[in-house]
Amino acid sequence: MKDRIVVLGAGYAGLAAAKRAARRLRRTGARVTLVNATDRFVERVRLHQLAAGQRLPDLPLAGLLSGTGIELVVARVVGIDPVARTVGLDAPPYTVGYDLLVYALGSGSDVAAVPGAREHAYPLATGDEAALLRARLASEKGPVTVVGGGLTGIEAAAEFAAAGLRAELLSAGLVGPGLSARGRRHVHRALARMGVSVREHTRVTGVGPESVLLADGDELRAGTVVWAAGFRVPALASAAGLATDEHGRMLVDRTLRSVSHPDVFGIGDAAAAGHATRMACQTGLPMGVCTGRGVADLLTGREPRPARFRYVWQNISLGRHDGVTQFTRADDSPVDAIMTGAASAAFKETITRGTVWTIRH
Ligand SMILES: Cc1cc2nc3c(=O)[nH]c(=O)nc-3n(C[C@H](O)[C@H](O)[C@H](O)COP(=O)(O)OP(=O)(O)OC[C@H]3O[C@@H](n4cnc5c(N)ncnc54)[C@H](O)[C@@H]3O)c2cc1C
Repeated sequence: MKDRIVVLGAGYAGLAAAKRAARRLRRTGARVTLVNATDRFVERVRLHQLAAGQRLPDLPLAGLLSGTGIELVVARVVGIDPVARTVGLDAPPYTVGYDLLVYALGSGSDVAAVPGAREHAYPLATGDEAALLRARLASEKGPVTVVGGGLTGIEAAAEFAAAGLRAELLSAGLVGPGLSARGRRHVHRALARMGVSVREHTRVTGVGPESVLLADGDELRAGTVVWAAGFRVPALASAAGLATDEHGRMLVDRTLRSVSHPDVFGIGDAAAAGHATRMACQTGLPMGVCTGRGVADLLTGREPRPARFRYVWQNISLGRHDGVTQFTRADDSPVDAIMTGAASAAFKETITRGTVWTIRH
């Protein structure tokens, strides 16, 4: 009997998978173990708010797992042995064995992308990084240079400006490249109104202690540099010999199982599944729910069903009172319909709260 399910990572994807699997299997004697580096659930979608000085709800994993029977192990994963079916940890019990593994370790900042970013820039991908940036911004009121014109960079620059900081946003290409022309127009107008200066087609090639270097050779004076120019996934899957794409994301089939190791599911930011590839909790949460169901199917003798997945919108906050909800086709490409202003901000807040509610219940 395959009855040891180990889920790595208690983010949106891993928590949803662990809870769904535990609920479906509660009368079977199967054991679900959830391994996470910290004992808290980190609402990554709110980290720009934390960095800008706002208070976020404290979400201990013990509370979110209460009554589920899931065993929580707080430790960092340091290796996976897919032959012995074990996971190595940096803290007790040091090794856990599995029959089915769910790999949901998310992503971190890509600070290795250009020289100096690791030493001089502040990333914003984990709770600890956001807390460090928050402390820096509380003591250093100078300008903030946000590098990266994707959704995280836009949200961060707007949140800092709304907190009274002078912010500029540098983007290698367009700001909000995945938005429709109407969506991008609204972002530009909102950032201008908030006093954020925006430079598009400005590629940063290096970060110094008080400046950023640009691809055209210019050097721009910068205060606090916030690195929001892309995410990088952990190397654990590729180091273990699991099939990955060129970015190290685990390659999974339509049932979200590794194409090389079918006893391993890959979900969330750390996995690449067909068109469901935007790194978003909007991707990770449904993947987690499907995987919880797929794990239960496998353990009860059924074939896991293909994950059905479609995008509907992208929600971008512009401070607490404005935003853009960009409606999309199923493949995440934008259509010409957007919602903006207070309605979009309220919609995003409802979705964000609803996500935690879904995970809790
Ligand atoms: C500032 C910001 C704003 C964002 N806004 C949005 C948004 O508005 N909408 C949206 O859909 N997405 C947004 N995102 C992206 C979204 O947060 C991620 O796509 C989402 O968190 C991915 O979920 P996940 O479960 O795959 O990974 P994560 O949420 O990153 O969870 C991974 C978990 O694994 C743990 N972990 C990692 N490595 C190890 C290890 N070696 N050992 C043990 N544990 C480990 C981590 O501690 C974490 O708990 C935003 C991201 C940021 C940074």
